[in-house]
Amino acid sequence: MTSVAERIAGSATASTAQSLATTTCDTDLAEPTWVFDALPTYGPGASVADVIPAETPNATRRPGQLPLAYQKMSEAELHERIVAAKEKLGDKLVILGHYYQRDEIVAYADFVGDSFQLANAALTRPDAEAIVFCGVHFMAETADILAREDQHVILPNLAAGCSMADMADEESVEAAWEELAEVYGFDPAVEIDADWFERNPGVKLPVIPVTYMNSNAALKAFCGRHGGIVCTSSNARTVLEWAFERGERVLFFPDQHLGRNTAKAMGVPLEQMPMWNPRKDLGGNTEADLDVARVILWHGFCSVHKRFTTAQIDAARAAHPGVQVVVHPECPMPVVDAADAAGSTELIRRFVADAAPGSTIAIGTEVNMVNRLAAQHPDRTIFCLDPVICPCSTMYRIHPGYLAWTLDGLVEGEWRNEIRVDPEVATHARIALERMLAAAPQPLTGGAR
Ligand code: SF4
Repeated sequence: MTSVAERIAGSATASTAQSLATTTCDTDLAEPTWVFDALPTYGPGASVADVIPAETPNATRRPGQLPLAYQKMSEAELHERIVAAKEKLGDKLVILGHYYQRDEIVAYADFVGDSFQLANAALTRPDAEAIVFCGVHFMAETADILAREDQHVILPNLAAGCSMADMADEESVEAAWEELAEVYGFDPAVEIDADWFERNPGVKLPVIPVTYMNSNAALKAFCGRHGGIVCTSSNARTVLEWAFERGERVLFFPDQHLGRNTAKAMGVPLEQMPMWNPRKDLGGNTEADLDVARVILWHGFCSVHKRFTTAQIDAARAAHPGVQVVVHPECPMPVVDAADAAGSTELIRRFVADAAPGSTIAIGTEVNMVNRLAAQHPDRTIFCLDPVICPCSTMYRIHPGYLAWTLDGLVEGEWRNEIRVDPEVATHARIALERMLAAAPQPLTGGAR
């Protein structure tokens, strides 16, 4: 069986015109699939240094979870099982595949898109009792929050978490909220219900919490309870505008880069964007820092997008005169500033689609997505800015073996790896999501297949 590394490297070599080295960011990727699967770290593409935290949902269930019989199946056998289960389940099943997912999984997806597009896509299949989400944990949670009561959301591998989402947990955010309440003089326990802003037009709260979609359900619920809102990478600016109309400042978590890049583009000076480090008193700030703050940035990041550098952009421009550089806003600010364009996964997809045949485009986002775009547009030269192959390895935990196992379970009437958000948490999280939808209606794009 080919290794994970060989598949990624092979895909990159075949689909890009770059002469950059196709090495991987961690030797773990060269391990056989099931050895890699059992490694007790987030692994490359998350953070090679991060050991999976105990509080990560179902972290302890990862190693050896997939029955041995499925680990031993050939690719052909897994394929046959997946196809047979899909046929048998028909409209009762919808499979969602994130843009960053490996090709062997995307091949079976009914919809391909980003996390929010996929959660919405599931709503277009009212007959689907089972929503199999080939993404990561927070995405499956969001799908469950938005799904009907009688729909079941399955995450094929429960170890598919997101290191960025895990950088902000409920306890740390609650603790930060209490410290901020002392500084700004508000009652941290006060809850802001769904209609509060309508009943109190023009009143500004001291702090509006804004969470990126890439966060766990408890944090979305925290925002729902405290007058806050959810944002995606495509609507972050509109959401921040919404928040500034209703609050003096914003606490933005977990991704500092999306918060900083978005607020900077809106004209907020960097001095008014202090970082909040949850391991330090007042987040590592003075009261004076917080007095002038407009956006308080949580100390979180995506380990995949953090790897992109301005040196890579310089190298791409030197090697490919005329190259256009487009990056995701989870990249550090200097990278976004040096790029020709920055935006969500959907923006990057459109940027490539709209480019003239013959164009050369360097992309700063997850390598599976870049390779797929290169394969879809063979008349353009498309390559990943990072010469080192570094996939989102938590997303990569979804292997056809897990997909076959969960689908076989559905055929046998068993919900394997179901994600259920606590109903009270879901109610509050829905308030924050609905505020986002009201502020920034999201067209259903992404790809139906
Ligand atoms: S690419 Fe980054 S933010 Fe997205 S799921 Fe992977 S680790 Fe999380």
